[in-house]
Amino acid sequence: MRKIALIMMSALFMSAYSQNLNKQVFDILNLDYPGLEKVREAHLRGDDTAAAKALLSYYRNRSSIILPDVDMNNITISKGDQKIADEALEHKFFVHKGYQPSYFYGDDIDWTYWPVKDNELRWQLHRLKWFTPLGKAYRTSRDEKYALAWIDQFRDWVKKNPCPMNASKRKTIASPGNPDSDAVVDIDENARFAWRPLEVSERINSQPEQFLLFLPSKNFTPEFLSEFLCNFHLHGEYIMKNFSEQGNHLLFEAQRLLQAGIFFPEFKNSAEWRSKGIEILNKEITVQVYDDGMQFELDPHYHLAAINIFFNALQVADMNGYRNEFPQSYIGAIEKMITITMNMSFADYSIPMFSDNRRTEKRVLIRNYSEWSKVFPNNQQILHFATEGKKGEKPDYTSGAFKTSGFYMLRSGWDMKSIAMVLKAGPPAFWHNQPDNGTFDLFINGRSFFFDSGCYVYSGDDEVQKQRDWFRQTMVHNTLTLDNKNLEKTDSKCLLWKTDGKNDILVVENPSYEGLTHRRSVFFVDKTYFVIVDEAIGNATGKVGIHFQMGENKIVEVPEENKVYTAYSDNNNVVLRTFGTKPIIFEKEEGWVSYEYRQKQKREAFSFNINKTDDTTVRFVTVIMPVKNAEKAPTVFAEITHAENGELTLEVTIEKEKRVLTYSLSTDETK
Ligand code: MG
Repeated sequence: MRKIALIMMSALFMSAYSQNLNKQVFDILNLDYPGLEKVREAHLRGDDTAAAKALLSYYRNRSSIILPDVDMNNITISKGDQKIADEALEHKFFVHKGYQPSYFYGDDIDWTYWPVKDNELRWQLHRLKWFTPLGKAYRTSRDEKYALAWIDQFRDWVKKNPCPMNASKRKTIASPGNPDSDAVVDIDENARFAWRPLEVSERINSQPEQFLLFLPSKNFTPEFLSEFLCNFHLHGEYIMKNFSEQGNHLLFEAQRLLQAGIFFPEFKNSAEWRSKGIEILNKEITVQVYDDGMQFELDPHYHLAAINIFFNALQVADMNGYRNEFPQSYIGAIEKMITITMNMSFADYSIPMFSDNRRTEKRVLIRNYSEWSKVFPNNQQILHFATEGKKGEKPDYTSGAFKTSGFYMLRSGWDMKSIAMVLKAGPPAFWHNQPDNGTFDLFINGRSFFFDSGCYVYSGDDEVQKQRDWFRQTMVHNTLTLDNKNLEKTDSKCLLWKTDGKNDILVVENPSYEGLTHRRSVFFVDKTYFVIVDEAIGNATGKVGIHFQMGENKIVEVPEENKVYTAYSDNNNVVLRTFGTKPIIFEKEEGWVSYEYRQKQKREAFSFNINKTDDTTVRFVTVIMPVKNAEKAPTVFAEITHAENGELTLEVTIEKEKRVLTYSLSTDETK
């Protein structure tokens, strides 16, 4: 019954939106473009119906434009995509994987429906991403119901989400894509979501593929083509006038505008779109990428996204004959960005979930490295990562410091049996960056022991914001706080980086709070175990705590010894013990980890605390030692014997063997 009702409803939509030729398509196209001769000829003699027919025929036969990853000769559909397509027929739209099952948006689609007040859920509705699965379902089945659903939904979206360009511009630009010329197009609540420039760019990014998928359908009429092209053109013009100010949004918009200009070179404005896109990318790669290769939002997720934006722009330009528009420095910067990603990765390809990062599947990263390797064929390290070490060569160094962005890798090797710490202590950054300076993730023998808590969710109403704020807290990271408060300042400096192939010493300092500076010194002793000295310097008073986030249910605490150890059954464990310059209070804390958006699970967390009562520096020494199991763990003792004027000396006793660790900021040289 429901199906019949839906089919009737579809029929209603079709009659409600009878397809009319949008003649403005002939104004926005360059009719002198090679291949459009018949279109031009028919238009000039006043037969626009014939001109539109010729235009559709031109596109159905056009094969000169190539998009990376789009191959119309080999179309397949996954089970997941088939489900998305079938649900879309019933107006259950796959908007966000964090919100499943998909919501029903009404027989008469309500594009303002917002069941959970997470901004992403409402923004991403307007990406219309389920159109691609619909297209694949159409091409693999040739069932016109998928094409009809796409056309209905496409036109319904256009009608109900008018472009908010200002009134004077609307007369000349906005109306071609808007079949309802009486629509009110003030910037209203809905347009803030539907026409956020990032969403507009998402639509022009996916619509070329959708266009190709549905092009053979008998329901893809010359009239619909005119509407599609006018709407697409409006999108390009909208981005040209509404670029985001900075950050990854601007990169996405520029790259997608460039691709739009390449995919539809028949528009009068295509060349302008291409050159604007390239101009922005060329500029932003110098603005947004630090000299050490890290994207300035300091978020591994957006760093990876930025690589692929710069890379895809280069690739699509390359494939269509525009590569020389990019200078060599642009290509070199991409290579540097890949290098820091390799350094930040553990041997299982996981990347610490700092800031808004989340877990990325290994196969996705390998696919990335393989693609990059094609453009950088001489880079043996990229090849090494692309082939899981079967080809190419691993880097000829182990530890690495990326001081401008503040990422430090203390590493014993590159294989699964190695030990690798990635520590984050950088300059101020932006919205995606968390106040977590000094935190680290530590990978030993195939297991991450101190993984980051992740981000869980982005933004929305108070309820959603509260959930985000929990994961952003400084105290849910592996670093130092005053009274468990978030850092007031995040602007770390590297005071010392020393590596000789056997031992690493890293000293970083952050002006964390008014009256309290956090200096963290990390010794990677014999590339075997870690000694971390945390100093809280300044006249602030209160509870100074160092926090640690660990795994799930496998933690054994020995509070009287300020000791914690893991109890995994596979002989891969760590023992952690902390010593203080004053009595330490051990506290259990709430712990969560989010590997994916809107998913979280419990984990163990704790802190060691010292009450700071005056301007005397508070110091902690923490030893983290990989062991097979707790019974086989050696006894550990550590004591600071000298600490002043940038000099630090401590004695660490493992079983009976005493080891002196020392540095002097004035005589040791940062390399
Ligand atoms: Mg975090």
